[in-house]
Amino acid sequence: MTLKYGVIGHPIAHSQSPLIHTAFADQLGIALSYERVLAPVDDFEHTVHGLIKQGFNGLNVTVPFKFRAYGLCDVLSDDAKAAKAVNTMSFKQGQIVGDNTDGVGLLNDITQNLHLDLMNKQVLLMGAGGAAYGVVLPLLKAGARLFVANRSPEKAVALAHMFNEMGLGLLIHASGYDAVQHLAFDVIINATASGLGNEAPPMTAGNFKPQTLAYDMMYGKETMFLQQARAWQAVVADGLGMLVEQAAEAFFIWHGKRPNAAAVIKALRQA
Ligand code: NDP
Repeated sequence: MTLKYGVIGHPIAHSQSPLIHTAFADQLGIALSYERVLAPVDDFEHTVHGLIKQGFNGLNVTVPFKFRAYGLCDVLSDDAKAAKAVNTMSFKQGQIVGDNTDGVGLLNDITQNLHLDLMNKQVLLMGAGGAAYGVVLPLLKAGARLFVANRSPEKAVALAHMFNEMGLGLLIHASGYDAVQHLAFDVIINATASGLGNEAPPMTAGNFKPQTLAYDMMYGKETMFLQQARAWQAVVADGLGMLVEQAAEAFFIWHGKRPNAAAVIKALRQA
């Protein structure tokens, strides 16, 4: 029997998820269909229930529905609870099970593809929106010393407060950008939407060490953040690896088999 999956969002035409999931399925000899689903912004929940009735086994969720998906799930993973957002839904025995694989995707890209161990590394996470919330727990679990800076400092402080209250052991520092301008980091992650407007969050040369990794969650074009970081001799990476690795984690949740994500990242970069 062919398993039915899809990615739901608005807009959705740009999504590379069908390409990625069918490439994984081909690697592992799994028969599945995977389609793009455009849901009306005001009708996400009905659309999901309709797809369940049609026999869908699961959905990936993208902008702007990750928070709505969180509200729709009957069961949530720890990562989904921490992110307060769901990007992977599984439909099992009448229940909707929600996961968030964005953070694991980022972590696997940094540790496995870029070969950087985050234990005790000074990591600056720029941004305090949905993407930032999704990656905090995996970064802390990997042993990163985390600083969060955001244009609206109060949102960074709220994020840090939430995770610090969980009593995970490692405390997050939070501020606006001014407070971190004299601190040097091993890793700087851009989790802001600044690249969409061809802007970058404020950084200084002093934020960079000789081998600092500058990681932009955006992909598709080199952002101003990566251009500036490159000028300061940073090692740079865009978010394509994170995209493929979050899909690999979703694939594992659904099928119990790990695809070769690196091969798909390589193929997408060459396409
Ligand atoms: P949100 O809208 O939830 O958050 C946006 C964040 O960006 C806020 O912290 C906001 O600051 C900040 N911001 C926006 N514009 C600027 C600017 N000009 N200068 C500085 N800060 C700015 O977005 P998401 O968190 O969902 O997404 C953030 C990015 O991550 C997007 O580019 C998205 O494409 C990418 N992403 C990539 C993924 C991948 O798999 N590669 C997965 C998920 C996201 P403020 O609070 O002050 O408004």
